[in-house]
Amino acid sequence: MTSQRARDRMVDGLATKGGIRDRRVLDVLRSLPRHLFIDEALASRAYEDTALPIGQAQTISQPYVVARMTEALIEHRLPKRVLEIGTGSGYQCAVLAQLVEQVYTVERIDELLRNARRRFRKLGLDNIRSRHDDGRLGWPEFAPFDAILVTAAGAELEPALLDQLAPEGCLVAPVGPPGRQQLLRVRAGEQGWVHERLGEVSFVPLLGGTG
Ligand code: SAH
Repeated sequence: MTSQRARDRMVDGLATKGGIRDRRVLDVLRSLPRHLFIDEALASRAYEDTALPIGQAQTISQPYVVARMTEALIEHRLPKRVLEIGTGSGYQCAVLAQLVEQVYTVERIDELLRNARRRFRKLGLDNIRSRHDDGRLGWPEFAPFDAILVTAAGAELEPALLDQLAPEGCLVAPVGPPGRQQLLRVRAGEQGWVHERLGEVSFVPLLGGTG
């Protein structure tokens, strides 16, 4: 159940039923062992297209959502430096790390971050810098970023994150209250930021402070 065959089946489903087109994204999902990002007790479900608990009342995102967000983030231009808010299991971050030069990721729950770092080391992913902090503040020391991906839903877009986006940058984030969240993509237009709605999603909330 944790074999390449299970992973292939999952990715084929994302392409045919899910409509994910970007080869680069599909190839990374095909190669990355998602079962290493969840508790062993749940490993047999790792290649179902579903979110799963990772402890601390948090979840690893559904593979379709990871694929869709990644595709949206790199569609117009492949970013070099990406900031992710909400490391969680580290799966989304590991996907990004195989597509871009450098990933920065911020998580507010220390235990989750420590587990994610262990996975990054085990997989030899050495282009990830991670930090324990409230990600709503971004990571000013390394700004600006070519792309920012938020994996927890806030009531609105965080102004600090938009401030840390490069002029040609792209931000993808779920926004809205539980049950009514939209995935938004923000990019620079001729007269300021242009917002696009990419569809309804369901994420854990973006919380303040650190845990
Ligand atoms: N990208 C993750 C998804 C994890 S769920 C994955 O692939 O597994 C969202 C994560 O966002 C949770 O781990 C939660 O603790 C974290 N989070 C919520 N609010 C946050 C904040 N203000 N700053 C940083 N992380 C936050």
